Amino acid sequence: MDCLFCKIVEGVIPVTRLYEDEQVLAFPDIQPQAPTHILVIPKKHIASHAKAVAEDKEMLGHLMFAVGELAREKKLDAGYRLVINTGPDGGQTVDHMHVHLLGGRAMHWPPG
Ligand code: 5GP
Ligand code: ZN
Repeated sequence: MDCLFCKIVEGVIPVTRLYEDEQVLAFPDIQPQAPTHILVIPKKHIASHAKAVAEDKEMLGHLMFAVGELAREKKLDAGYRLVINTGPDGGQTVDHMHVHLLGGRAMHWPPG
């Protein structure tokens, strides 16, 4: 399958592996939009948040907890923003589900 993030999981495309376990992987976004901009992805290929199925529930909870651990590790005590762009209207550009962890500056709202 020609999936960029699956290639990152497999190590074909090298990244700095900020956190990894059997289910999830975190690495820096190549085009950071904030001082801290980390992508956290399931190792399993799930094309988008909309494509998750019931058997993914435990992994998704695990992933969200891992995001929180990363935020604490990165000392984002002032807060942070999580973004899951989903589908064309959601502005998703890589078709492998990912959570953006953005922090280190004040975010704006609405997000445009
Ligand atoms: P989306 O727009 O789908 O929500 O987010 C995709 C993200 O992946 C973008 O923020 C983009 O900068 C990031 N990205 C795209 N290609 C690469 C890559 O090869 N390596 C890394 N680390 N990030 C990438
Ligand atoms: Zn994939």
